[in-house]
Amino acid sequence: MAEKKSMSLTVKVLIGMALGIIVGLGINLLHLNGAGGWINTYIVNGLFLIAGKMFVTALKMLVVPLVIFSLITGVIGIGDIKALGKVGGKSFALYMLTTAIAIAVGIGIAASIGIGEGVHMSTEAAFTAKEAPALSSVLINIIPSNFINAMAQGNMLQIIFFSILLGISILMVGKKALPVIELVEIGNEIMMKMVNIVMAVAPYAVFALLARAMANLGLGLLADLAGYVLVLIGALMIHLFVTLMTILKVFSGKSPAMFLKKMRETQIFAFSTSSSNATIPVTLRTVTTRLGVDNSVASFTVPFGATINMDGTAIMQGVATVFIANAYGVDLGIAGYLTVILMSVLASIGTAGVPGVGLIMLSMVFTQVGLPVEGIGLILGVDRLLDMIRTAVNVSGDAAVSVIVGKSEGKLDDAIYDDPNAGILTDDELDIPDEVEQELAEVIHKIKEED
Ligand code: ASP
Repeated sequence: MAEKKSMSLTVKVLIGMALGIIVGLGINLLHLNGAGGWINTYIVNGLFLIAGKMFVTALKMLVVPLVIFSLITGVIGIGDIKALGKVGGKSFALYMLTTAIAIAVGIGIAASIGIGEGVHMSTEAAFTAKEAPALSSVLINIIPSNFINAMAQGNMLQIIFFSILLGISILMVGKKALPVIELVEIGNEIMMKMVNIVMAVAPYAVFALLARAMANLGLGLLADLAGYVLVLIGALMIHLFVTLMTILKVFSGKSPAMFLKKMRETQIFAFSTSSSNATIPVTLRTVTTRLGVDNSVASFTVPFGATINMDGTAIMQGVATVFIANAYGVDLGIAGYLTVILMSVLASIGTAGVPGVGLIMLSMVFTQVGLPVEGIGLILGVDRLLDMIRTAVNVSGDAAVSVIVGKSEGKLDDAIYDDPNAGILTDDELDIPDEVEQELAEVIHKIKEED
């Protein structure tokens, strides 16, 4: 095969992102996106919409089989139920802790700046709360009554529960189950290849997703709510670059700079899809092949984190609570804010990482502390952009905790973590190797001869 030097996927995705933002903002600022116009119909809601949606759907398509195969492989890899319990316990504790810190930071910053004071409540706020799940049903629903149904619905906690149980049972059967073990291990390898294939089109898809999102942005609204938006983005950045990186360094001793460098691509995926869940395949790939966390840990911590850990969303809830409480002139007091922290942490357990779910969680929190749920209507218009940013923070939290748990369990390959080029996806990797092609040709030839 001819030697070719190809650009890494990260660079291409970065270019796709930059061009997408420029083109989208250009369309928006030049008012080219008028309803009924050809750009709106054929480009923004035609080409960009189709390309973006197809890509996000392809990512979602990978999530369930990938999580099942990698988690069963992971359980078999750990091979010890006690170690499995330790991974579960540590990651759960860290996820809850980081979420609680996140929301406290959000509240602290927003309250000290006093955002929302002086906002006129005459703004027509129209938000109707959606049903949020009760904690009791969240706990009961961890167990699937029908696994096919759990897969069909993509219910992550149920899928995790069943896959772990299946992995343990396979271990208990022992030697006789070797063919099954081989099957899931090969299945996992195949699914990871499929992730590579879907990721290869990411630069174009990221361009389409971002161009459409930016073209549709209400920039006027951004200016109206500049205080809220800036404080929230500031708090998100402090959490990502200061809090999370300090926790990473203290608990794992690993370099935050390397972590951030390697997470860039995953953050862009999260940013453009607004969904931690759809980003699971990419997060899992980065955490294992780029950051060196063994699959036995990552296969659990990544999907678990995408479901129960949402640091960015928690910060939004803290900031939004202060903003709306001030706008309505409600004084929540210390007890009120403590309830907000507790409720947000609990709400994050029961809700999956999909676009816009943060607002549903917020309505749950508001109902608890007696804030007017319609107040959420105030921030609805700018939530699309903020959802993108907080999802990038959410997946960073999942990956950081995966590294910490991996390190503490002796399941982190330092050589991979420290190598800046480890696991970089290039075009060459998508080629089918010559030997494999030859092997295939021989097999096909044999089958034909037998016929
Ligand atoms: N979109 C976020 C996520 O998937 C959740 C949210 O904040 O709405 O992580």
